[in-house]
Amino acid sequence: MKARELGRGSIVVGDRVDVVGDLSGRPDTLARVVRVRERASVLRRTADDTDPVERVIVANADQLAIVCALADPAPQPRFVDRCLVAAYDAGLEPLLCLTKADLAAPDEMLGTYKPLGLPYEVLGPDEDLGELRSRLAGQTTVFVGSSGVGKSTLVNRLVPGTDRAVGHVNAVTGRGRHTSTSALALEFEGGWLIDTPGVRSFGLAHIDAAEIVAGFHDLDAFAVDCPPDCSHQAEATDCAITAALERGEIDPERVASLRRLLSSREGEDETEPSSPPTGPHS
Ligand code: ZN
Repeated sequence: MKARELGRGSIVVGDRVDVVGDLSGRPDTLARVVRVRERASVLRRTADDTDPVERVIVANADQLAIVCALADPAPQPRFVDRCLVAAYDAGLEPLLCLTKADLAAPDEMLGTYKPLGLPYEVLGPDEDLGELRSRLAGQTTVFVGSSGVGKSTLVNRLVPGTDRAVGHVNAVTGRGRHTSTSALALEFEGGWLIDTPGVRSFGLAHIDAAEIVAGFHDLDAFAVDCPPDCSHQAEATDCAITAALERGEIDPERVASLRRLLSSREGEDETEPSSPPTGPHS
């Protein structure tokens, strides 16, 4: 249990804490979390219908694995863009995992994200996961993806038996899997895989344009000459990035990617089909 002096602050998956008391784990024993260590990174979830407050969902992660299907459902670049902004903001390395490669070619999605220089994996149902495993080993990786993209299937292939573990958690909390927003950490080859059932979007409203531009080192060098609060979009007045683009000094595809990510903060998330997930392999 949480010590009273911690107040109302929450403890989330990935937090490093100090614990006192009986640590044996036997029934009817008690240990208290007395301190939460400073968080190296913080990933936030957007408020939604079930919870009106924007919350930290995972602390201290290193990497964000963005799972996106190449077909069935069709790729959602807007979702990927929003995940990328959340990753850059939280200080996590993004890793693009394109699933269902047996159903469609990855060329278009890879073309879209090539200017960002992202690490990526193209995965079919029988794909060897060796390279992905080595990218995950020793890291704390958060998996995100909307329903039907094969995220749970992928996590279960990496850590067999995950379905049972998830069922156990549900039995304890009494919450249905599709409504649960709590993250689940699974030990994996010297690191952790953190599955985030029910996380459909990230809180991006607080993110300053400068934090996103900082991720684009080639463009950031020009942005210092922009007017304060420059949107860096094509219509912005006296934007130094636009000027450099017109002089041919920067890659137009990089500018297009930056502008897309900047505008991904605006508006609502794409809503998902309201039908309940079909099962643990959603
Ligand atoms: Zn600008």
